[in-house]
Amino acid sequence: MTVRYASASGVRKDVAALLKAPRRMPIAKAVKKYMRVPMGEGSSIPWDDSLTPYIIEPMNCLADRRYDSVIFVGPARTGKSLGLVDGWIVYVIVCDPADFLLVQVSEEKAREHSKKRLDRTFRSSREVAKRLSPHRNDNNVHDKTFKAGNYLKIGWPSVNVLSSSDYKFVAITDYDRITEDVDNEGDVYTLGSKRTTTFMSAGKTLAESSPGREITDSKWRAKTPHEAPPTTGILSLYNRGDRRRWYWPCPHCSEYFLPIRENMVGFSEGDDPTKGSKAARLQCPHCMGIIEPEQKRELNNKGIWLREGQSIDSQGTITGEPRESRIASFWMEGPAAAYQTWEKLVYNLLNAEQEYEKTGSEETLKSVINTDWGQAYLPKISQEQRSGDDLKLRAEYWDYGVVPDGVRFLVATVDVQGGKKRRFVVQVIGYGARGERWIIDRFDITRSLRFNDDGEAQKIDPSSYAEDWKVLITDVLDKTYPLQDGNEIEMGIHSMAIDTGGEEGVTDNAYQFWRKCKKEGLARRVYLFKGDGKAKSKLITKSYPDNTERSDRRAKARGDVPIYLLQTNELKDRISSHLGRETVGNNYIHFPDWLDDSFYDELTYEERDSNGKWAKPGKGANEAFDLMVYAHALVILLGYEKIKWENPPKWAQLPDINRDNPLMAPKSTVIAPPSIQTSPEKTDSTPASSSAWVPVSETSGGWV
Ligand SMILES: [Zn+2]
Repeated sequence: MTVRYASASGVRKDVAALLKAPRRMPIAKAVKKYMRVPMGEGSSIPWDDSLTPYIIEPMNCLADRRYDSVIFVGPARTGKSLGLVDGWIVYVIVCDPADFLLVQVSEEKAREHSKKRLDRTFRSSREVAKRLSPHRNDNNVHDKTFKAGNYLKIGWPSVNVLSSSDYKFVAITDYDRITEDVDNEGDVYTLGSKRTTTFMSAGKTLAESSPGREITDSKWRAKTPHEAPPTTGILSLYNRGDRRRWYWPCPHCSEYFLPIRENMVGFSEGDDPTKGSKAARLQCPHCMGIIEPEQKRELNNKGIWLREGQSIDSQGTITGEPRESRIASFWMEGPAAAYQTWEKLVYNLLNAEQEYEKTGSEETLKSVINTDWGQAYLPKISQEQRSGDDLKLRAEYWDYGVVPDGVRFLVATVDVQGGKKRRFVVQVIGYGARGERWIIDRFDITRSLRFNDDGEAQKIDPSSYAEDWKVLITDVLDKTYPLQDGNEIEMGIHSMAIDTGGEEGVTDNAYQFWRKCKKEGLARRVYLFKGDGKAKSKLITKSYPDNTERSDRRAKARGDVPIYLLQTNELKDRISSHLGRETVGNNYIHFPDWLDDSFYDELTYEERDSNGKWAKPGKGANEAFDLMVYAHALVILLGYEKIKWENPPKWAQLPDINRDNPLMAPKSTVIAPPSIQTSPEKTDSTPASSSAWVPVSETSGGWV
């Protein structure tokens, strides 16, 4: 310990005579009683908890043995460092004398905090002033010793400061402006909280900051209502804690809501900053009622912190199992900040937007979002990536499994998934003319045609069981879909493409499957795809892998199975631009409204970097996108791009609905349901040149 006593006997006398710590009370109450806030020129006012009511609960958690740490995330001008840092220091000096370490961002900031804020606060707060040591060398800029013998260190991030002594209390201010790694020893929070461990549950670590780190996964979506985006720094500490958010009751409908940027209305991006900022209001998301700027203080005083898992009704009744953690964590945002007007908030935002438009620099914008609004920043490059939400908005209604008007033929694409959740992922797309297409179906095949003793279908295992691939014939290639207005007519799958990459065994079984298809006369409807490792000018290259010379390869290829190597980057560029088309027409992609969010997330998960390479930013799924890419590669192979639409080949013609009249059906254009075992009219080996139209069943028309 580096505690330095002024004079042992003198201190003891002082402590006994006048400095008995007052009776225990909540920290906020004690600070209200004992702390005066210096206002300059020697004047001061008492700290007023009704100005910043949201700071009371975090302050009180600093004396609560259920918590080791308090994390407070909030914008500038909330009064957070006044209450949480200065207030806590005052409380400790007066009510709970113990060694205290304050970590500021830098040595200079530490000096400034000490001289400009703490010294003045100590002098104007009588109960603190009484406890200051009268000895000159007990009152230095970075080290202060009090009459009770307790020591206050006002330091900065360095191993020297953070590893030399034990402190019962550690406060870290402006956490996200501090280096992430102190002298290669780790982050300040971890190093700081280690200093308190000898005090067991009485030790406390506080970190407070506005967010300052960038969002690491642009495709992140909150899994729970209070989850913060993935960043390093203060928001990651918040996420580790019990995640409290600051709610206001709506003055119109009494329901509680978050006073955050998403609920601010009255202005829009590109508005004149002066005009736009004056119109800024909060809107209750429950009743759409408008809240005026003057109502902020009143609503803050009615506000409440709710933990993750809790909810509150309009009567103020709280329900739900709160998240438990030794870290009490709090996150509030700009619109609730006591010392910042909405007008200024929005003015700063619109100005920063303008600056970005003019200069392309995001620095100001990032700082406004972080320090004024209290939110994590998502860089523009990530914001401009296509959002799945935008695509979802385009979803149209048609019955599940039905083929809408305009579709000329169907292709199925299959992704083979290994690992624990092994399955075939199947997507069926209907192509119309000139690239217009519809998502017809999307499903997983998880059960094989193998049965156990109880007659249950076994889990599918495409890498270990070659026979499991048979389901791709029965459940995909043989599938038919009714036409929207087609009466008795159903549309079959024209052809199917399978990605053969993946875990060991998959490629081998894919080859075997294709040989089987060839025997069954299906080879021209089944294609094996693989991403091309080498960049080539040719979009798709047909190859016949032959590794009979090599013994180290498990996949047995003897040059008899065609594999199509795809330039996936170029194909992805195409699909991406097709997805970007917003009005119906050439290359427009239609989505049915039954697809859930995960489909759109998959479709937009991959990102294109500045070198034109597509990659996943994290471990999220991207099957929907991959499968769209395969489907397009497949139709290109079929010759789709060369079709003259005034005279398309039979397989790309619109279905002739009149064919449900058996007498009208021209025999030559009709093929039987493409089936291997069941149909007596076995498909010949050239389906690519015949129509994909099939009747509902063998009894539905006499024209087969
Ligand atoms: Zn309301």
